[in-house]
Amino acid sequence: YQPLMDAMARFMDKTYTTGPLLAFEVSKDVDTTHVVTSPYDHNQRVGSVQWTTREQASRAVDAAWAAFPRWEATPVGERATIIRRLADLMEENLAELMALCSREGGKLLTDGVDEIREAVDFCHYYAMRAEELFDAPTELPGPTGESNELMLGGKGVFAAISPWNFPVAIFCGQVVAAAVSGNTVLAKPAEQTSIVAHRVIELLHEAGMPRDVVQLLPGDGPTVGSVLTSDPRITGVVFTGGTDTAQIINRALAARDNVPLPTLIAETGGMNALIVDSTALPEQVVADVIQSAFQSAGQRCSALRVLYLQDDVADRVIEILKGAMDELHVGDPRDLGTDVGPVIDEEARQGLMAHIDKLKAEGRLLAETRLDPAHTAHGTFVPPTAFRIDGIDALEREQFGPVLHIVRYKASEIDKVIDTINDKGYGLTFGVHSRNESFAELIAQKIRVGNVYINRNIIGAVVGVQPFGGQGLSGTGPKAGGPHYLLRFATEKTVTVN
Ligand code: NAD
Repeated sequence: YQPLMDAMARFMDKTYTTGPLLAFEVSKDVDTTHVVTSPYDHNQRVGSVQWTTREQASRAVDAAWAAFPRWEATPVGERATIIRRLADLMEENLAELMALCSREGGKLLTDGVDEIREAVDFCHYYAMRAEELFDAPTELPGPTGESNELMLGGKGVFAAISPWNFPVAIFCGQVVAAAVSGNTVLAKPAEQTSIVAHRVIELLHEAGMPRDVVQLLPGDGPTVGSVLTSDPRITGVVFTGGTDTAQIINRALAARDNVPLPTLIAETGGMNALIVDSTALPEQVVADVIQSAFQSAGQRCSALRVLYLQDDVADRVIEILKGAMDELHVGDPRDLGTDVGPVIDEEARQGLMAHIDKLKAEGRLLAETRLDPAHTAHGTFVPPTAFRIDGIDALEREQFGPVLHIVRYKASEIDKVIDTINDKGYGLTFGVHSRNESFAELIAQKIRVGNVYINRNIIGAVVGVQPFGGQGLSGTGPKAGGPHYLLRFATEKTVTVN
């Protein structure tokens, strides 16, 4: 990582001044400046973001609608070429994007590299799939004397509303999927990571994307988000974020009168569980639990929240886990020795600490990593913790941070465990650790989630190889990075010729 760190150095002190990137000039009559500081050091200013006003958001929808027929008629090969150029530009600007992921999002270097590579993979994969799907109509067999063709087109204007925890990969994946399929896009990044999103859209424009086809609308969710989701001209929303926010968006879209039924593609929160039976190898379990629960400070939708340990193996796993948690180093994400960085902001820290304090007061603490004030005094840090609880049903909501909940179960209770996990209604990731192959496969079959991992950690997805996404309260599908994803952004037209 040293050459990359050297390249990043010149972006570590830069102060950015950013704002909306729209099809028209933005007047600065109203001051909506929002200052961004680093989660690991609140004294460090990353820059400022001019937030989009309601009036600008509404004008942006006008421009997006006007651009749609022209963009949809642009050959898919040209659309895909722009997306591939974006991938190249992101690789060329890897150091700056990583510096921003770290300064604005509190990401470790290793997480930042993975994230930008994932964004690059999304570009290549969706460009390839778009050319396969949209290039020529599919001929369908039909009665003699008639020919039938299925043609794909864009749907219209998409709002792409994204979270802060993958500010490049998820943001870029949503925008690119919608645009390469022939839609115009209004990209609304998360408040916390609008500067890195601004840089990505600058690169996309540099790659040749017309400014009226993809526009950037930074701003707070309830304001900009609600202008977009209540506008009758929005054809679809591609959203990743909390389950509660998805419900708000769903209601806003449904409340619009007299408009074509909208598309909502939502990827939301998880209450991800891992079941460990008595045949599992404790050391391997702990290595995977540490990664699943605490990597990225637990701020991954796929992160492990509830660990189910079969009684015979529970004491041994907990003992090794305690030792491993003692070794974790919490601190500055720019330091290569850091394992766990900060959580995104003070609001997140306070919410997590309230949950931790409550469980501690109930006497449930099993293990806790010590925070060293020398490394954590100026940022929003939360100690990795592990608690004993009675079952996943005891948790009210997703805790989006480094908090692990542990449940002990008896072999005879396994059916009840599976029912409880399924009844919770979330269905994102899930894992089994067992050397009993048929047990692992049976559980994988019974559990209602989007991604199951056997004998490994439960986070991560490889674009085009492990399509990612949940079901139930965790998302609508289709899976990001999978072969069917672009179809949700497309209209289908059947043409029959006699
Ligand atoms: P969030 O729901 O708070 O915000 C997501 C986006 O929605 C932001 O851009 C925000 O400004 C916008 N928003 C907020 N209120 C809105 C409204 N009323 N109308 C329209 N838009 C609005 O989520 P977050 O805190 O940014 O991200 C963390 C959450 O995202 C976690 O729950 C995590 O599990 C989930 N997530 C899911 C996946 C997945 O693939 N399933 C991936 C990453 C994150």
